Amino acid sequence: MSLERAELEAMFERMGEPSFRARQVLQWLYQRQTTCMHAMTDLSKPLRQRLQQEAVIALPEIVRQQLSADGSVKWLLKLSDGNCIESVFIPEATRGTLCVSSQVGCSLNCSFCATARQGFNRNLTVDEIIGQVWRANQAWSARQPALPPAEAAERHAESAGGAAARRPITNIVMMGMGEPLLNFQSVVSAMRLMMDDFAFGLSRRRVTLSTAGLVPAIDRLAAACPVSLAVSLHAPSDALRDQLVPLNKKYPIAQLLAACRRYVGKHNRQVVTFEYVMLKDVNDSAAQARALARLLGDMPAKVNLIPFNSYAGIQYQRSTRPVMERFRDILLSKNIVTVTRKTRGDDIDAACGQLAGKVIDRTRRSSRLLQQQSATQPPATNSVSVSVSVAAARTEFALPASPRGVLA
Ligand code: SF4
Repeated sequence: MSLERAELEAMFERMGEPSFRARQVLQWLYQRQTTCMHAMTDLSKPLRQRLQQEAVIALPEIVRQQLSADGSVKWLLKLSDGNCIESVFIPEATRGTLCVSSQVGCSLNCSFCATARQGFNRNLTVDEIIGQVWRANQAWSARQPALPPAEAAERHAESAGGAAARRPITNIVMMGMGEPLLNFQSVVSAMRLMMDDFAFGLSRRRVTLSTAGLVPAIDRLAAACPVSLAVSLHAPSDALRDQLVPLNKKYPIAQLLAACRRYVGKHNRQVVTFEYVMLKDVNDSAAQARALARLLGDMPAKVNLIPFNSYAGIQYQRSTRPVMERFRDILLSKNIVTVTRKTRGDDIDAACGQLAGKVIDRTRRSSRLLQQQSATQPPATNSVSVSVSVAAARTEFALPASPRGVLA
């Protein structure tokens, strides 16, 4: 799973095998969800034995899953080095969206973000990123009632033919823990597997990368893997965005929007989605809505207004509903497509900005924050560093035993 198709083809050619073996193995791994090489029966027996000896299949392990009252699911996945990351699945009537992490923690330190408060440990590898999709697909499918034999056979035939249409995951957003563009190569390889017809087979418009605004990497992404682009904007002025998204000091709004224009210019079917978390009395005034409309007026843009999801120890509050509606209406009146995002999974801390796995913090940011908090207030009982155990008290359900998986 750390290899995308071209790399697998090269591997098989080095082994003296035809390159189409790569397509067969991808289908076994991602469409039939098989991690046992002996079960890959369209490969010769000697090749299966050789793969068993020379390749490793390894997947992150789901150590906890929590079910929200609204149907969303959050998985805590343990990595081989003891770090844990989170993924969230949001099922809806016509689609299922998986939010995938790209780093263990995050180094960018956005002031409203739960992940940021855990500090940073490392980038995820390709197999740890695509393994989140594999695990979610497996875990969600295991929860569904068994199909009648005829329909099960039909779906098996579809998967063998490369169709991905009836899988639970129809959309993927690289919007979990971490800044995906700081883990560029691994994220691009994983997204190529998400879109490969022999793997998960999603279309480009159903894979979205969300960035805080790493300008040079946005240009690289346009060339390497032009998926749908989302930008965490959150403020209409540099003065405010410097506080909310410190990366703005390096790549201010004008540079960021210029990179977005280049991105959509290169692939002119696209719009850029701008994420805007609604923080009470911080970025939600009518004047700020008008300023945002002026900024985005000349580009194909959509604005997602995100109700802020609070958590222990954070100073921000969610904007009130009338204020959010006023903000939305101002943008709509300026012909900017604007949607107020429904909050999903906030009862299991799975909503936007709330993801916090279990990070072995190399930056010491989490311990500094705890020290600051304890110096200014009585000790919190559910601070970010213990969010894992607090969350564990919420709704959970049992997992079936799962195999290990991923070609390395
Ligand atoms: S909002 Fe995104 S980029 Fe900013 S700290 Fe959180 S995870 Fe990192």
